[in-house]
Amino acid sequence: MAIERDIVIVGGGLAGCRAALEIKRIDPDLSVALVAKTHPIRSHSVAAQGGIAAVLNNIDPDDTWEAHAFDTVKGSDYLADQDAVEILTKEAPEVILDLEHLGVLFSRLPDGRIAQRAFGGHSHKRTCYAADKTGHAILHELVCNLKRHGVEVYDEWYVLNLIVEEGEAKGLLMYRLLDGTLTSVRAKAILLATGGYGRVFNTTSNDYASTGDGLAMAAAAGIPLEDMEFVQFHPTGLYPVGVLISEAVRGEGAYLINCHGDRFMASYAPKQMELAPRDITSRAITLEIQAGRGIHPDGSCGGPFVYLDLRHLGPEMIMSRVPFCWEEAHRLVGIDAVTQPIPVRPTAHYSMGGIPVNTDGQVRQSPDSLVAGLFAAGECACVSVHGANRLGSNSLLECVVFGRRTGAAIAQYVQDRKFPRFDGRAYHTGTRQRLNQLLNQHGTRRIAQVRQALQDCMSQYCGVFRSDATMREGLNQLAQLREQYGEIWLDDRDNCWNTELIEALELGNLMIVGEIILASALNRRESRGAHSREDFPKRDDPQFLKHTLAYYSPAGIDVHSLPVAVNRFPPQERNY
Ligand SMILES: Cc1cc2nc3c(=O)[nH]c(=O)nc-3n(C[C@H](O)[C@H](O)[C@H](O)COP(=O)(O)OP(=O)(O)OC[C@H]3O[C@@H](n4cnc5c(N)ncnc54)[C@H](O)[C@@H]3O)c2cc1C
Repeated sequence: MAIERDIVIVGGGLAGCRAALEIKRIDPDLSVALVAKTHPIRSHSVAAQGGIAAVLNNIDPDDTWEAHAFDTVKGSDYLADQDAVEILTKEAPEVILDLEHLGVLFSRLPDGRIAQRAFGGHSHKRTCYAADKTGHAILHELVCNLKRHGVEVYDEWYVLNLIVEEGEAKGLLMYRLLDGTLTSVRAKAILLATGGYGRVFNTTSNDYASTGDGLAMAAAAGIPLEDMEFVQFHPTGLYPVGVLISEAVRGEGAYLINCHGDRFMASYAPKQMELAPRDITSRAITLEIQAGRGIHPDGSCGGPFVYLDLRHLGPEMIMSRVPFCWEEAHRLVGIDAVTQPIPVRPTAHYSMGGIPVNTDGQVRQSPDSLVAGLFAAGECACVSVHGANRLGSNSLLECVVFGRRTGAAIAQYVQDRKFPRFDGRAYHTGTRQRLNQLLNQHGTRRIAQVRQALQDCMSQYCGVFRSDATMREGLNQLAQLREQYGEIWLDDRDNCWNTELIEALELGNLMIVGEIILASALNRRESRGAHSREDFPKRDDPQFLKHTLAYYSPAGIDVHSLPVAVNRFPPQERNY
């Protein structure tokens, strides 16, 4: 089958939905298809907890967009592009009020204005929230609006590959989970909004669908990926499962304590304490655990986690401000956070890097050229507003600000663009062969086994701390795992709801993403933000104040660079 739409959006999270809404607001006659491998409501955005940052001055009259921009740039360890950060922070209040008008149920102050709370690395109380279910509140309204504006939703369709010929994106191929139908889509513009890749690691806050498909698809089509070495490890993953206990809990005043009962952040970030940025807090927890001051389940020293202590907040505050975090700890590990501290340790959480785009969301082929017809937004894109480390509550903001901007840019872009041409049959045949090979291969290995080995390899050799030796070992093991991937076999060889086939495809993508993370990290011989090298512990601006651009091919990865836009805040030492 083949279809034609003016615009096809891959991804039904906050970025994809916000872009779709903007396109339809600007030109209701454009045909927009939104494809998602999950139902849009089940995109990872729905799990966002703590909030979305914007200078509304509802609590803090002294806050300014410049202060928000400075905090973001300092948080990024000066790697963020400052022109993009200016857009992010200046447009923030407007997009929040627009969400409010769409009907998003934000938490309120007694006088009815939107409530705002403290968040790590932010110098003012500027994070708007809906208790600790902010993503849920926003995504539901956006998805309702897709229907209202006549966006055609292809839910539970899996996009397999992107069709790029001679520097021009022309369409894509997608697979219907229900019955195995393959369909090619020809479009004047394609937007990738496929989210993150947390599943590359063995402990993550991300959902099962965060497998970096869009990144791998772009990389396989010859498009570079930017700054992939910067993986955010969130300090407070619930031990042992890894799901997130929101930073909002510390924003409301919770403490981090080691096995001696000390608030150890005093040694790492004496001013900001528990509200230091995530890279610093995750390193602090890891160092405490390595020094034997972590905690065992029986309470003794030397164990694998530290405590997040909410008890002093009292039941009323816990139940009104962070009820979901209380529920998670209670349901998953049997802890009542009103009377017991919660065991936590760092968990892979967010991708600062991604598909390189300009501030209109158009994808870069190189530092000075763009890919015709291709756009990206949200977590899969790198614009770059987060640089080497993202501040909490800036990601939902990025999805909404750059989702809207990219939507507007696309609505303009397609006005005088013709439908591109390509030989759909050749792509169908090639892809069908690839699927049949996976379905019919008589291997000896199970998907879960190879995936676990990949996740263990990445967590062990490219985690919170890395070094040349660990990363080289990681790359060696990955090469072996790639061979093992050729030996997997599937129990399910059917075309109806074959989720095992999807898992096999996702594992292939995780491997590509893992390899690009390792190669980019090996190349950056300094420590900056979330990238901490034991062999190069200092930031090195003269050599590395630049973005990484990694070009993938099955034969190897080529690493180039892209300049950083510094126009307002010159790099300084970063103290908290
Ligand atoms: C537990 C958790 C809590 C968070 N809390 C906050 C917070 O409080 N504040 C904040 O700012 N940020 C938070 N974040 C980060 C933020 O939620 C995400 O970065 C953001 O929601 C990503 O949105 P997105 O639209 O880019 O992608 P997602 O919401 O991840 O959506 C991706 C979409 O792409 C689709 N897709 C992917 N691959 C394919 C494919 N091959 N074919 C078809 N469809 C595909 C998926 O089905 C999905 O619809 C949190 C993240 C997590 C994991």
